[in-house]
Amino acid sequence: MPAADLLLTGARVRTLDPSLPEATAVAVTDGVITAVGDAGGLRELRGPGTETVDLTGATLTPGLVDAHSHPVMGLDMATGADLSAVRDLAGLRAALAAAERTEGWVVAWGLDHNAFGGHPVDRALVEEALGGAPAFVRLYDGHSALVSGAALERAGITGPRAFSQRSTVVCDRDGRPTGHLIEHAAMDLVAGLLPRPSYAERRTRLVGLLSQMAATGLTGAHVMDLGDGSVPGLLASVEEVTDLPVRLRLAPWCMPGADEVALDELVRLQSEAGRLWRVGGVKFFMDGTVEGGTAWLEHPDCHGQGTEAFWPDPAAYTEAVHHLHRNGVGTATHAIGDAAVRHVLDTVAALGESGRLRHRIEHIETVPRALAARFAELGVIASMQPTHTAYTRADHTDEWSRRLGDERASRAWRCRDLRDAGAFVALGSDWPIAHYDVRQVLATARLRRLPGAYDTEPVTAEQALTGLMALEGCTSHAAVAAGEQAYAGRIAVGHRADLTAFGLDPVEAPADELGEAPVRLTVTGGRIVHCS
Ligand SMILES: [Zn+2]
Repeated sequence: MPAADLLLTGARVRTLDPSLPEATAVAVTDGVITAVGDAGGLRELRGPGTETVDLTGATLTPGLVDAHSHPVMGLDMATGADLSAVRDLAGLRAALAAAERTEGWVVAWGLDHNAFGGHPVDRALVEEALGGAPAFVRLYDGHSALVSGAALERAGITGPRAFSQRSTVVCDRDGRPTGHLIEHAAMDLVAGLLPRPSYAERRTRLVGLLSQMAATGLTGAHVMDLGDGSVPGLLASVEEVTDLPVRLRLAPWCMPGADEVALDELVRLQSEAGRLWRVGGVKFFMDGTVEGGTAWLEHPDCHGQGTEAFWPDPAAYTEAVHHLHRNGVGTATHAIGDAAVRHVLDTVAALGESGRLRHRIEHIETVPRALAARFAELGVIASMQPTHTAYTRADHTDEWSRRLGDERASRAWRCRDLRDAGAFVALGSDWPIAHYDVRQVLATARLRRLPGAYDTEPVTAEQALTGLMALEGCTSHAAVAAGEQAYAGRIAVGHRADLTAFGLDPVEAPADELGEAPVRLTVTGGRIVHCS
């Protein structure tokens, strides 16, 4: 066997490989794990060029993956003033008044619906603070925005619009736009006018962001978008000069109205790849968000909303998924409401045995028990974001819970029921919807509240995962969600050398400590991308 490029010794190695669950040393050559064992057994792999890292006191796990993230689109989404700390209307007005103007625009993101204190989202509430500036304020869910009168004027929006997807320019009783734009088609009318950073700036910011992600222990991300189409070019140009700190797997969107030509283009895109990125799978939306009134529910929410699918013709969605499936393409569908989840499960069920472990559902925020059980039966992968529970409150006084009512709010994010039923549950952040720090994802999956938030009551506490289940969600189960389980998600010979070492044991240490656990080492594709 050739000498190793990298030899990691002295660690407690949690391999997640049932044939050899624990070890203390790992050897890596050419980006692949070539031996797992102990330092003595691996000594002969040490050559003159071998880099040896002593990980005494650390726990080494398979590289952590964020199974739902938007690192590239998020760079554009997370621009301007960060409003994630705003709690009420006074705070919102103050933040907007103080926000920097870029080419005259106020751009902001991360606003929690709860800041409106139950008022409808309306520009009248903030116009004075903006002093006539065009403004584009993204709500935290990424599926809606509040824009000012000046922004509406620049976009030429004077009343309702019709779209081929379920998207709305919200108008008042007199037909005047309130500034609330729901879903991407409506948001894009204004988003397209915003000042945009240069290509070089985006490239620098992307590498910076991915390095910060790697510093939390991430080695990979399932990117649930292909941005504006310039992303493959952007990634290729990064790889001309350096390696990506985090491996990316990107799923382009299939939107309502997609015809045969569009579907075949999505199939063709699957072959686009670089060294540490590739296009893999296709992302669909079956609905929007609970807070936006666009989740597809079996019964309306408390405002009488939420009874419609994002695809005006859900059968057309099913046809599109089946077309991609026949062409060997896996799919990931955003489905938050119970009706949306049911429709996706029915779509996969119609594929029979060949549909197993090929398709996944993203978010799954409120489903009855019987629906949760079907994931394991059908082999549909559940992709969940534990940190989103922090946008709700255990006492149901938040916007999400109020809209759904007690019964549906009490079945929030059933991670544990899905696991106990035998489903694969991949975990992610949905950054920039929530923080990308994977330690927070792991900790919140176990706590059902953010680590360190000792005063916060856990949301549906019985849905907490064990430490091992949480780790599997970001490793072995994430690998299944990507169809990569034959060579990723475990520490085993022949697997990718994507590895993470923490200063504590992420399985057994108290979850509150995990939130700020030291990340000793992050290795992506055999290369050390973070070390402390
Ligand atoms: Zn997302």
